[in-house]
Amino acid sequence: MKPRPPLIIPVFLPHLGCPHRCLFCDQRPLSGRRLTADGPGAGEVAAEIRAWLARSPAQGRRVEVGFYGGSFTGLPLKEQERLLAAVRPWLRAGRVDGIRLSTRPDYIFPETPAFLRAYGVETVELGVQSLHPETLRLSRRGHEAWHSEAAIAILKGAGLRVGAQLMLGLPGEGTVSTLAGCRRLAELGPDFVRLHPALVLADSGLAALYHQGRYRPLPLVKAVALAARAVEILAVRGIPVIRAGLQTTPELEASLVAGPHHPAFGELVKTRVFFNQLRRRLASFPQRPRQLTVAVRDRSLLLGRGRAGLRRLEALGLLDQTRIVFAETAGPPRLEAIKDVDLAQR
Ligand code: SF4
Repeated sequence: MKPRPPLIIPVFLPHLGCPHRCLFCDQRPLSGRRLTADGPGAGEVAAEIRAWLARSPAQGRRVEVGFYGGSFTGLPLKEQERLLAAVRPWLRAGRVDGIRLSTRPDYIFPETPAFLRAYGVETVELGVQSLHPETLRLSRRGHEAWHSEAAIAILKGAGLRVGAQLMLGLPGEGTVSTLAGCRRLAELGPDFVRLHPALVLADSGLAALYHQGRYRPLPLVKAVALAARAVEILAVRGIPVIRAGLQTTPELEASLVAGPHHPAFGELVKTRVFFNQLRRRLASFPQRPRQLTVAVRDRSLLLGRGRAGLRRLEALGLLDQTRIVFAETAGPPRLEAIKDVDLAQR
C-alpha cells in the first residue's frame, strides 16, 4: 500500500525573501494572505499549527510545517532562525515530524543544507519554473538554469529531499523547450515535482503583457497535454508529480485574468496520461479482433470527461474490432486476441 501523503501545515510568507517580483507571480491570491513586510511571529506560527492539528488530526500521517509563498533562504538569517525556531517546540513534542520550505534556486549555497537541517528542515521545494534561458530572462527570474542544477545537486548531496516546481506556458517557452527542460530536470533527479500552468493573475507583470496583446496563455487542452507529457518523462526516472495545477480558492478566482486554470486540472492530466499510454498500447497490438481489459477503478480515466477519451480512441480507429471489458484487476490495461467476438457489448 502507498504511504499516505503527509499532512502539511502551510505557513505563508507571501513574497518574503524575494529580491523582486517575477513576471508571473502574485502570491497574495495564491496564499490568501495580505502582503506584510515581516513574517509571522512565533505565536502566530504556533496558532497556525494548533488550529490545523485541531481541524485535521494527523491520524497516523506524518505532519510537516511548510513555509511557502516566498524565498525562505533569501530572508536574513536571523529571520530564518526565528521562524524555524518557532516550530522547534512542536518537533520536540513529537506533534510535528519535519519542516519543508520553498525558495529560489539561486538562494541555495553550499552552507545552506547544514543550517536548515539543524532546525529540522527535511525538504526544500525549489521554484525552478523553467530551464530555458530565454524564458527565465523574459519571466524576470533573475537567475539562470545552472542555478537550479547547482541547487538540486547541493541539496541532494546533503541528503535533503528536493522538490521542483515547473511552470508550463511561460513567455518564450514552446513545446520543444518545455519537454527538453523536463528531460533535463528528470536527469537532475529531484524527489518530486509540482507542475503548474502559467496563469495571468491581475497584479502581475504577465497581466500587463497580456492586456497589451504580448502574451497568450496556453489553451487548457494544450496545458493538459504538456503536463501529461511532463508526467510521463519524469515517471521514466521514477519522479512523481505530486500536484498538477493550482487549488481553486475564492482569492485565485477573483485574481484570475486568463489562463488554463481548471479546478480538476490534476484529474485532466491523469486522464490524458492514461489516454497516451493506452493509445500506444493499442497501436502496438495489431491482432483483431481483440479484447481490452481495463480495471474498474480506471473506468473514468478510460472514458475521460464526457467520454472524450473514448471518442478520441475511436476516432483514431484504435477501438475497431475491440471489445472492452472492465474487471476487478489492479494492473494496467491488458490486450489479448480473441476468436469469439461480440463487439456490440462495449
Ligand atoms: S516566483 Fe518565487 S521568487 Fe519570484 S516573486 Fe514569486 S515567490 Fe518570489
